[in-house]
Parts: sequence; structure tokens; C-alpha cells
Amino acid sequence: MRTIEIDKNKLKNMNKQEYKVPGEFAAAVQAKCPRCRRGDMFAGSMYGLKLQKMNVSCPHCSLKFEREPGYFYVSMFVSYAMNVAEMISIAVATYVLTNNLENMWLYFATIFPAVFILSPFNYRYSRVVLLYWLTPGLHYSPETSRDSSNGSEGITDTRN
Ligand SMILES: [Zn+2]
Repeated sequence: MRTIEIDKNKLKNMNKQEYKVPGEFAAAVQAKCPRCRRGDMFAGSMYGLKLQKMNVSCPHCSLKFEREPGYFYVSMFVSYAMNVAEMISIAVATYVLTNNLENMWLYFATIFPAVFILSPFNYRYSRVVLLYWLTPGLHYSPETSRDSSNGSEGITDTRN
């Protein structure tokens, strides 16, 4: 019985140590916190039934995502650039697939639903791009990723 308990503890420690911090791109795709790459930036899934909700701060290292009031206003420009790129690619794809240049409605009928469907994607990734690559002074810092930095938070979590 005792050996089993020891093994369990060993496994627990192993799991803790073996958290592999994802690379920059993988972390961005998973919308992880840009500083610790562990906490999620968003609550819930991209295409869930609930409205998209961004966490105010990182659940792991408590980094405040909105760097200053109105910071995500800037992400609208990123979102705009993403929209333009998507519209162009969809227009090109429509042309390649149908070879039709006469019927403008065909293009409206493909571009607008596609942009609508992609809007949660744009909302999420415009903010990810902003925080990962357009925010000076915000970088991955390994110390915030460690379990020990979460120690005090863990205690408050069990109390609540
Ligand atoms: Zn974090």
C-alpha cells in the first residue's frame, strides 16, 4: 500500500515538472498568456454558445491583459487587416473555383457569410497578435511559468 502512495506522489511531481511550455507560435495559436504561456487569455471556447469573454488577467501569472484603458482599441486595426486579407483570399478562391467574373452577387454571397463566420476567430486572434507581437516590453518570461510562482494563488484558491 505504501509503495503505491509513493508512486502516486512521484507521478504528481513528474506531471508538475513535465509541463512543457509551448513555443511562441503554438502558445499564440492556443491563445495562452504571452508572459507565462500557461494561463488562458479567453474563458470558454472560440465557437461556444456563450459570448466570447476575455479574462481580465492571466489565471496563472495574473498579468493584466488590457495594458492600459482602451488598449484593445488598437486590436481593431489588426482585426481590420485580417478581414481584408480574408476577403481577398475568399474572392480569389471563389474565382479559382468558379471562374466566374460576371456575377458580383456570387462574390457577396461567399465573402460576407465567410467573414461573419470568421469574426470570432478575428476577435480572438487580433488580440493575440496585439499582445504577442505588437506590444513592446511584453515577452515570455520563464519565471512566471513555474509552478512555484503560483504558490500563494494556490492557497487562496483552496480557501475560496
Ligand atoms: Zn500568464
